Parts: sequence; C-alpha cells; structure tokens
Amino acid sequence: MGRCRLGASARVSSSDSTTVTVPPATVEAMTSPAGGTALDVLSHVFGYDAFRGDQADIVDHVTAGGDAVVLMPTGGGKSLCYQIPALLREGTGVVVSPLIALMHDQVQALKAVGVRADFLNSTQTPDERSRVERAYLSGDLDILYVAPERLNTDSTRSLLARGTIALFAIDEAHCVSQWGHDFRPDYLALSDLAELWPDVPRIALTATATEATHREITQRLSLGSARHFVASFDRPNIQYRIVPKRDPRAQLVEFIRAEGRDAAGEDAAGIVYALSRASVERTAEYLVQRGINALPYHAGLDASVRAEAQSRFLRDDGVVIVATIAFGMGIDKPDVRFVAHIDLPKSVEGYYQETGRAGRDGEPSVAWLAYGLQDVVQQRRMIDDSTADTAHKRQAMHHLDAMLALCETVQCRRVNLLRYFGQESTPCGNCDTCLDPPAVVDGTVAAQKLLSTIVRLDRERHQRFGAGQIIDILRGKETARTRQHGHDTLSTWGIGDDISDQRWRGIVRQLLAQGLLATRGEYGVLGLTETSGEVLRGDRTVQLRDEPERAPRARSARRAAAHELEPAAAELFEKLREWRAATAREQGAPAYIVFSDATLRDIAVARPADTAALGAISGVGDTKLARYGEAVIDVVQSYAALGS
Ligand code: ADP
Ligand code: ZN
Repeated sequence: MGRCRLGASARVSSSDSTTVTVPPATVEAMTSPAGGTALDVLSHVFGYDAFRGDQADIVDHVTAGGDAVVLMPTGGGKSLCYQIPALLREGTGVVVSPLIALMHDQVQALKAVGVRADFLNSTQTPDERSRVERAYLSGDLDILYVAPERLNTDSTRSLLARGTIALFAIDEAHCVSQWGHDFRPDYLALSDLAELWPDVPRIALTATATEATHREITQRLSLGSARHFVASFDRPNIQYRIVPKRDPRAQLVEFIRAEGRDAAGEDAAGIVYALSRASVERTAEYLVQRGINALPYHAGLDASVRAEAQSRFLRDDGVVIVATIAFGMGIDKPDVRFVAHIDLPKSVEGYYQETGRAGRDGEPSVAWLAYGLQDVVQQRRMIDDSTADTAHKRQAMHHLDAMLALCETVQCRRVNLLRYFGQESTPCGNCDTCLDPPAVVDGTVAAQKLLSTIVRLDRERHQRFGAGQIIDILRGKETARTRQHGHDTLSTWGIGDDISDQRWRGIVRQLLAQGLLATRGEYGVLGLTETSGEVLRGDRTVQLRDEPERAPRARSARRAAAHELEPAAAELFEKLREWRAATAREQGAPAYIVFSDATLRDIAVARPADTAALGAISGVGDTKLARYGEAVIDVVQSYAALGS
C-alpha cells in the first residue's frame, strides 16, 4: 500500500493492537467516530459538497452501528452509503459484491480518490491474496471487496475474525431472492454474518425494489432489526421510449445515429440488449458494417474476448456493447448515454435495472425498446417449454405480463414503472407517451364486459380464474374447462365474440396496467380493484392504446443531450476529454476513474483559473486535485490562450 495519499498520511493509534491510517481530513472523525464529519469525507475524499437523498441519514445510521436495508435506483449513489461509514468507523469495511470481474475497477476508483481499498477473489495468485490478507490484518485497509463464495469459506471467515471489521456491505442484495432474475445461491449463506459478528453493522443495498424482493432481502439476510431506506425510484434524466418493432436492426441504427451522442455531439457509449447469442452477434456485425463502434458480449464468448470487450467499453469513448443480459450488472460506468432493447425483457425488474445503467451521471439519456407481438409469443413459449416447476412458470408469466402492460400503456411510462415499484407519481413529460401521445380508442364497453364476467364468477359462483378462462367465456369458446364449470350458462357467455382472443389479451394487459384489474395470488387469477367499480357503474371511461395494422410513422428524433454545451465550452470539453483519455491510458484505468463527464463538463463551463477554483467543482476531491489539478488548469489555460 502507501501508493495513494491516504496511505501516506496521518497514522492514528486507535487501540493497543491496531494502527489505522486515515486522510488528514478525517483524523478527527476517526478519533471520535461520533463526531459527525461524514461531510468532510464527502468533500475532501470524494469532492462532493452535499449528500443526496437519504445518503446522509444512511451514513449516520450505519456509522453509529445500525443495520440498514437500502433500496435506491441505479445511479442513486449507493456506494457512498457504505464507503463513508467504512472510512469513519474503525477497521475495514467488507463489501460483498457478486461480480469479481468488476472488483478491480471498483477498487481502482477508490484508490484514485485515496482510499486504501483492495479485493479478495479467485482471479488472484496466492501471493497477491496473502498481500491483501496481511494488509487487512495490520489494519491497512479501509475497504475490502470479497466475492460471496469466498466469504462463505472457513478460511476467509477465520481471517476476518482476526482483524477488525468496520461493517459488512452486501451489494446487489437482490441476488438473495430465489424468485429474482439474478439469484446467487452463495448469497443465502450470508445470513450467518449476523450470528458470527452480531456487533458489526450490516447494510444491504439493491436497485431492485419490488416489495417481494425487499421482504426476501430482509428475511434471508436476517435484517429484521434494520432500518429501511427506500428512495424514490425515479430516474428523471432517462427518457423512456417503446416503439413497435418493424425492422429492429435498421430501427436501432436510425436510433443510434440520431441520438447516440454526448453533450459535445460525439459518439456516446451505449448498451444494446438482445435475448439470444445469435441475435447479439448478428446485431453487432450489422452495426459495425454501418460504422458504429460495436462489440458483441455474451456468455458463449471466450472469457478473454468478453474481458476485452468490457475493458474497451469502460476505457474507450463511444463504444456500443451488444449483449445478452449477462452484461452490465455492477458496471459503474457513469456516462452510458443509451440502453436499447431489441427484444422484450422478461420482467420489469430486469428492464428497469438494465435501463438504469444509462445516465448514472444524471445527464440526459435514453432507454429505447422495440417490441412486437412475436416477442410475446416467443417468450410465452419459452416459459411453457422450460423445465421449471409450475410455481416458477407462473411467476415468469406474471413478470412478462407486467412488462407487456408497460409496453401497452397509453399513460406515462414512468408513472407505470414507478407504480410497479409501489410509488405513485404524475406524468413525467420525458417519455414517449408524454411527448408524443399515442392514438387511443374508447374501450369502456369491452372493459365492462370483462369486469362484469369477473364479478359474476365471483358473486354467483365464488370462483376465480385467470385471463385465459375469462376470455374463453367472453368469446363463448367451448372447452373442457368451460363445460366442466358450466360457464356457458353465465349471462356474459359469448358477449365478447366480436373481439379476437389476441385483442382481448391486449385489453386484459392494458386494464392491469391501468390498475383497473389485478392479479391475485400465485395462480394469476384476475380480480377487481378499488377503481374497477367506477368502470362498471359507468362513472369512468377506459382508454386503450390503439393497435393499428399500419406501420407507425417515424417519431421525430429528439436529441438525448437536450442541453448541449455552447460551442466554446464543447470545444474545451473535447480538449479535456483528450487529456483524460491520455491520462487514463497512462494509468491503464477507465477514463471515468480520472474524472466523470459531468465533472469535465462543469470544468469546461466554469473554466477555473486556479486549483482553488478547480477544487470547488463537483467531483474534484483532495487526491484528484493534488494529482491532476495543475494538468487540468494547463488544459484550460492553453485553450484560453488560443483565443477562444
Ligand atoms: P449506484 O451504486 O447507486 O448505482 P453510485 O454509487 O455508482 O450509484 O453513484 C452514481 C454516481 O453518482 C457516481 O458517479 C457517484 O460518484 C455520484 N454521486 C454519488 N453521490 C453523490 C453526491 N452526494 N454528490 C454528487 N455525486 C454523487
Ligand atoms: Zn411520461
């Protein structure tokens, strides 16, 4: 260690056996952990002036020794919630993170701001591991990243027991959810930490926010007495757009050419998600042929090819990765300008997490999805054909239905998304349905027919059914099940035979999306909601998204970078980016570890004359100011000297 500034700074003897090294700014905090200097660490180490949202409360709570469950969207700033308490508390913060491929970058980013961080995982040689272990034992580490499977071994646990643990942070905590899309069996064993180290605070963090996942995290990680921090899941800088699929690859190229640009008008980094490996490869090739700097990424590629693609995405500017969902979790690249899906995601959770990888830096970004009927057919078949048990299949169908509801809503996409996570909001003005409202048709009568069928089944027969059976009743379709239940005697039998099966499904999904219909329990049975009665009584009309046969007109291209820089500032921004690229190359680090785009943009606008002015810019902490201050001022001054 000792490469970074923290390592070379003050040493404070904190107990008879350990020596803790801290930055000058946090000496007081370390000697009196309750001293409330989290803000000092925020500004001196990370270069930010103020905490965002719940960060301050979370940091206080965990620093004081409390357990916490943190639900915050991607880009919300979860990392600081455990990094700052780890710096303020005595000992080493142990961070459990599922992606060993990314630990290196996470550690590098911390070292770049002067924090003594390292990791333990299977990619290291025994020598490297023992170096890290020694650093831990002698109290020379602020933060230690550990893969869950490693943390669960006896040897790692006995190592940890011989040192001082400041806290446990369990990142991507939704991996503990067996119903979720990222389940990792190794996460289940993490509940032991509570018994092994009852006095060490634990903080579990995730960007997946359904109530079910929240409950599972709390139960399975034994966080019963934790405080819960649930942030707003809104990502206002992301523009959500869902378009009907015609020729997805051509549509994608059109989209990237129109909007895959950063604030200076240069090619921007983006991620394109496709469902199959074959589609990933074909799409990447197609993009490359059209002059887009695209690389494929999927689990079938050689590990070295994958690592190279990931590293180019992180390090070079303007790389587009075409990937299966195997790509992206834990990638902290802040300046991803767009996330495009050319196939329908399997769940809203997955979609929200994937799109959330755009715009972590808060700058305008776009989430674009092309979706068609064949997606639905294909995915239903995939679920049907899978070897999963019935309960899992049913769950998968529910997830798919909610995703479809989002695609078909005539209302604000964001309102729909946030409601899925249990949060109410008002139309956002920054999604396709807000910006360019779709054609709608009056579906009140159809909705009444459907809802009254449910009412009759419920009241007259005390029976409940899923969408398939209810649609069969509406269409008067004789099946073994309708005969068995005598459904042909219902007064609504056959009253909807003028509407196709497919269209009825669309109606069901849209009513679900509008909260006029609910699915109950794990069998997916349909039930009424508090507002269904208003429709039945005729007090409320129902608008449905029209599903025309005609090809929809091309949407007017809206630039992602709505507030582009003035020409002069854009030029300086470019110069700063060139300097950043050269610096990052020298260090073998991703460019964003040097400075984020947002920070460079602020510098280009403010044109600081000296290092003091530079230090006041968000994202410039003490270590980076000392390391890069002069060089940045040089770039700004030589630009000014050119007479701009
Ligand atoms: P998450 O892990 O929740 O996705 P990160 O911890 O990666 O989010 O933070 C997202 C971005 O926001 C990072 O670039 C981070 O440095 C920045 N950030 C976090 N907290 C603050 C803050 N209080 N002020 C300014 N920027 C912040
Ligand atoms: Zn909207």
